[in-house]
Amino acid sequence: MTLFDKLTQERRARLTAEQRLEHRTRELNAAMGQLEQMRLELHQLRQRGRTTALEEAQRAAEVQNLTHRARAETESAQRSATQAERRLWDSINTIRDGFAVFNQNHELVIANQAYLGVFAGIPEVQIGISYRRLVEILAHEDRVDIGHLGRDQWIEMMLNRWEEDKIDPMVLHFSRGDTARIHDRRARGGDIVSLVRDITEQQRHAAELDEARVRAEAANRAKSAFLANMSHEIRTPMNGVVGMAELICDTSLSDEQRLYAETIRSSGEALLNIINDVLDFSKIEADKLALHPEPFDLERCIHEVLILLQAGARKRSIDLLMDYDLFMPTRFMADPGRMRQVMTNLIGNAVKFTQAGHVLIRVVGMEESETEQKITVTVEDTGIGIAPENIDKIFGEFAQVDEQANRKFEGTGLGLAITRRLIELMGGQIWVESELGKGSCFAFSLTLPLAADADPFHAEPIPLEHVMVVDDHLINRTILERQLGAQGLKVTLCEDAEQALAAIDSCKGEGIDLVITDHEMPGMDGLDLTQKLKEDGYEMPVILLSSSPAVLRDHPGISGLRAILQKPLLRHDLLRQLHLLSHPEEPVEVVEPRPRAPMPVTGDGRRMRILAAEDNKTNRLVFSKMVDGLAVDLRFAEDGLQAIDGFKEMKPDLVFMDISMPGMDGRTATREIRQLPNGAQVPIIALTAHAMAGDQEEILAAGLDHVMTKPLKKPLLLDMIARYRPDDTCPLTAPLDKTG
Ligand code: ADP
Repeated sequence: MTLFDKLTQERRARLTAEQRLEHRTRELNAAMGQLEQMRLELHQLRQRGRTTALEEAQRAAEVQNLTHRARAETESAQRSATQAERRLWDSINTIRDGFAVFNQNHELVIANQAYLGVFAGIPEVQIGISYRRLVEILAHEDRVDIGHLGRDQWIEMMLNRWEEDKIDPMVLHFSRGDTARIHDRRARGGDIVSLVRDITEQQRHAAELDEARVRAEAANRAKSAFLANMSHEIRTPMNGVVGMAELICDTSLSDEQRLYAETIRSSGEALLNIINDVLDFSKIEADKLALHPEPFDLERCIHEVLILLQAGARKRSIDLLMDYDLFMPTRFMADPGRMRQVMTNLIGNAVKFTQAGHVLIRVVGMEESETEQKITVTVEDTGIGIAPENIDKIFGEFAQVDEQANRKFEGTGLGLAITRRLIELMGGQIWVESELGKGSCFAFSLTLPLAADADPFHAEPIPLEHVMVVDDHLINRTILERQLGAQGLKVTLCEDAEQALAAIDSCKGEGIDLVITDHEMPGMDGLDLTQKLKEDGYEMPVILLSSSPAVLRDHPGISGLRAILQKPLLRHDLLRQLHLLSHPEEPVEVVEPRPRAPMPVTGDGRRMRILAAEDNKTNRLVFSKMVDGLAVDLRFAEDGLQAIDGFKEMKPDLVFMDISMPGMDGRTATREIRQLPNGAQVPIIALTAHAMAGDQEEILAAGLDHVMTKPLKKPLLLDMIARYRPDDTCPLTAPLDKTG
């Protein structure tokens, strides 16, 4: 072998060895890689194995913890539940009310001490006992008052109760002295829960309250009776005082004597007003004052009040004026007495607190519905006024503005408080606006139902075109201008007679159809004006407005007049006169608010017969003096029985009946008289000193026709007699009514 061959061989062997080495190296590397891989895996495996064990250990610890806590909580909850249950039971046991639960078979499941207490000493009463048995025990062991029922009936009643769907509560009186109200309720699963509420205290309170109420009512009745009696007792002698003073004033007296007599009379009247106020106020306080609405004429009511107050107003030259909304109805439903009281108080105050100027009453209305009107009445005066700081006080009780100026006015300070209550009772409001030294304006508004016979003022056309109004008073002229203007008449206003004469002369009276003139005016008065017009040959009719028409009755100047109308003017009277102008043949009419005063005797005929029942001697004397000089036959009776005898013997045309008389009272006597022949028709006038609520209604219900309150007023008494004088009797002879 050559070297080359050897070398080649060598090289081949080396290459092979190298290849083998490389192969081996690769194998080794692969094995190393595997080994590393396995090592890694082994490491990982080892790692993982270690973690799981830790976790498991941790989890186990947590579970253990939880278990501990849960157990603790369960124990605590159990403790709380036990405690709550114990508390609940303790509470249920401590309350005085009984509590029990029965299952659907009506067997007792639970009951507290109070429930079981009524069964004390009966061993059989335990949980599980039936309701029926409990009821039987109650009845048979006399544990309960079963009232008028027999035992078996009572048991049956108690069992039947539980058959109802809704079990009504019932009251049981236990023999041990307590009383309970039993409330049984159906609960879930047919259970019945029974609650026995102790109402012993409650009943005791109710009984006490009842007793207190009865006592209070008795006291109140006693007070009312006392007030009624006191009123009667005071009024009876006052009747004598005021009546006699009035009679003395009618006789001829020296100035000094007249002053004394007038003072007695006005003080007496003031005292009576105070008594009335106090009585009214106590009635309102006791909620005893009820309203008695009936149809009444609002305009007339105000008018009558104005007429009554006119004498006082005239003394101080205060003009009393009324402006009643022309298109407003006058007839409403309201309590006439109370409306009059409100008006008297407001207008009376206005007159009382005014020294000069006027008092103007305005009435306006607004239709609320077809059957109701909202009326607003304002009473405006030019008097002393009220300071702003006193305005809020005056509607309070016993409130008088305490000023030097005010002290000279008498009063109780109750009038406005009563007025406000009355207006509120009627559903209205009252307010006042005032300026010190200038005057006040009191106003109230309320909604009144129209009376069934109310006629909204539909005036027919008046047969005139042009009217002259002569009045020195601006407000009066304005009111008349508005009222006549609303009738479609042309109105010429004159401030005095001279102006009127000048105006008439300038047109020679042409086109002036009527003159309406005030009576009292500065310079030439209304009557002189009339006379002058007639002398000058003017023919137009003249209507005179006068505050005291009765005084003018005998005045020679009235022959030229068409009519004399009472001031303040009633719309109705004025319109009636305007309509009557188309009948010029009618004689002069003197329109007064009251029935005419007695006229002198002119004809024959018998004398009117009057029977007066009156137990009080002074009152009889006053009565006889008041009718003194009338052409009447007067007979007195001293009690009810004498009145009946008197009626039978005398057959009177008119009876005056005192209500409170010893023996037979006026009501009974009236009822008896009503049964006698002619007794049903004869007018019977009650004379009463009582001024308590309901008196009037009660008296009228006894069959009397009117109620006159004592002390009697002569003019009212004479009016009443004149009103009922039968046609076949001679006219009443009397001196003309001075107060007319
Ligand atoms: P009385 O008139 O009996 O004192 P009232 O309750 O009627 O009681 O009135 C209370 C007070 O209100 C009066 O005392 C007076 O001070 C005041 N007052 C009432 N009306 C008027 C008025 N028209 N002008 C001025 N003050 C008045």
